[in-house]
Amino acid sequence: MTQETGGFAALGLHANILSALTAVGYEEPSPIQYQAIPVILSGQDMIGQAQTGTGKTAAFALPILSKIDPAKREPQALILAPTRELALQVATAFETYSKQMPGLNVVAVYGGAPMGPQLKAIRQGAQVIVATPGRLVDHLRRDEKVLSTIQYLVLDEADEMLKLGFMDDLEVIFEAMPTSRQSVLFSATLPHSIRAIAEKHLREPQHIKIAAKTQTVSRIEQAHLMIHADQKTNAVLRLLEVEEFDALIAFVRTKQATLDLASALEAKGYKAAALNGDIAQNQRERVIESLKDGRLDIVVATDVAARGIDVPRITHVFNVDMPYDPESYVHRIGRTGRAGRDGRALLLVTPRERRMLQVIERVTGQKVGEVKLPNAQQVLDARIKKLTNGLAPLVGEAEASHGELLDRLTADIGCSPRALAAALLKKVTNGQPLDLATVERDQPLVPGVSGAPRERRERDGERSSEPRERRAPMPLGEGRARCRTALGARDGIAAKNLLGAILNEGGLAREAIGRIQIRESFSLVELPEDGLERLLTKLKDTRVAGKPLKLRRYRED
Ligand code: ADP
Ligand code: MG
Repeated sequence: MTQETGGFAALGLHANILSALTAVGYEEPSPIQYQAIPVILSGQDMIGQAQTGTGKTAAFALPILSKIDPAKREPQALILAPTRELALQVATAFETYSKQMPGLNVVAVYGGAPMGPQLKAIRQGAQVIVATPGRLVDHLRRDEKVLSTIQYLVLDEADEMLKLGFMDDLEVIFEAMPTSRQSVLFSATLPHSIRAIAEKHLREPQHIKIAAKTQTVSRIEQAHLMIHADQKTNAVLRLLEVEEFDALIAFVRTKQATLDLASALEAKGYKAAALNGDIAQNQRERVIESLKDGRLDIVVATDVAARGIDVPRITHVFNVDMPYDPESYVHRIGRTGRAGRDGRALLLVTPRERRMLQVIERVTGQKVGEVKLPNAQQVLDARIKKLTNGLAPLVGEAEASHGELLDRLTADIGCSPRALAAALLKKVTNGQPLDLATVERDQPLVPGVSGAPRERRERDGERSSEPRERRAPMPLGEGRARCRTALGARDGIAAKNLLGAILNEGGLAREAIGRIQIRESFSLVELPEDGLERLLTKLKDTRVAGKPLKLRRYRED
């Protein structure tokens, strides 16, 4: 028994498995592993209930591998997983844990890849099949005997499988296996439909539950930020400037929102991509691979699309849209703090969602403290710090290696070293401005929108009956006139739609357009006073989101 695997050795796992674990570096079994491994080794059926990130894969893979006979070249274990990505993850885990088991083969069976090689691997005696239900049923239709030797069955993420509509497929699969098999079911939640399956297909299963309290890994630092919905994109951009992240997942609720936010981030120079249910499996895998190897730093995802992603370099989770329930919150933030690293999770909360924040705090048993939106000065400081950190290590040796080139360039261009250094800075910062005014203009935020001052007033019971629609508009920029359109958030208008329309049809430069404020039933745009009448005439017939823009000068009094 090695010291590293002490906790595992006491559970009765096979010596080959223990030595593989030493190589992987697991020190102690996680709670679900500690409880499930002896039960599975004993041959009992089992239901394991635990959240994402609790180590369920090893909880079933280790005991099953301990029991498999690698000398028998026939399928002995079947693991069902809801998606191709998860099936591949589980298959990889089995391969890792069986490194010291010569003759043991694992086959992953999923849709979108040719069936032939999968069937061949099964026929050649892969002892472990990891499959998505849909594709496995396709195989059963061709050969009803493929599962006739299965002794161990695992349903991983059973609740997700049912959500994805695999109920009927599961029934077909159950029928194709010997009834003498051992069955194990893992699920984050146990809705009625899962209990019904367990009732019908498991034999006196032992029920193991890891309490919700221990779900949120303590290594994840959580915080929330109060914000109005129309300021979310700007808030994300500001946060990204000051948060020191490696890779990040941002969660939103809709497919469209994944696309919108990802392109807003890309436009600012971030290596970002969207991940949603419409994206084809192979493309999806490419996105995750890119996130792993650093070709991407940010993935904007919906809950379903991000499920099971295990990328150790994810340091941050941004909950841009509120999750639907505390469980998905826990799932989401479990994408960070992987493999024993630290993680940080930020939750954007609009005033109406404060309730949900309280529910999340109650369920996770942790306080999610409030942070403030970084102001322009902090953004600027962060930019300069990044630049300093990047350049400082080079200063020492660069003069020796590049000094001559500098002399040559200043001579050729006929400029001072200072002017040349400034030009180089402009280039390395991609023209990103490093002055306060520009930071403000690029990522404008309506004062008070960070929520706190206004919200606090409400909480303290002071009179603040002022409806959102009549919130005082912010002070007007110099030389600008405020214009109003009757199109607002309820018409599906976002600031970038208005901006796009005015830029295109009005022939203005981006800098000419000031703040854009989107309200529920109208929007305000700041335009140059100079030539305003001409501009409004030009925009007379412009339509945005299929509706007439009808921009008018807006007089507040
Ligand atoms: P789940 O299926 O519950 O979401 P996984 O099985 O995917 O969780 O495990 C989550 C992460 O924890 C993986 O990166 C895995 O390698 C790691 N892990 C699992 N068990 C241990 C352990 N005993 N010690 C350290 N890391 C572990
Ligand atoms: Mg899992």
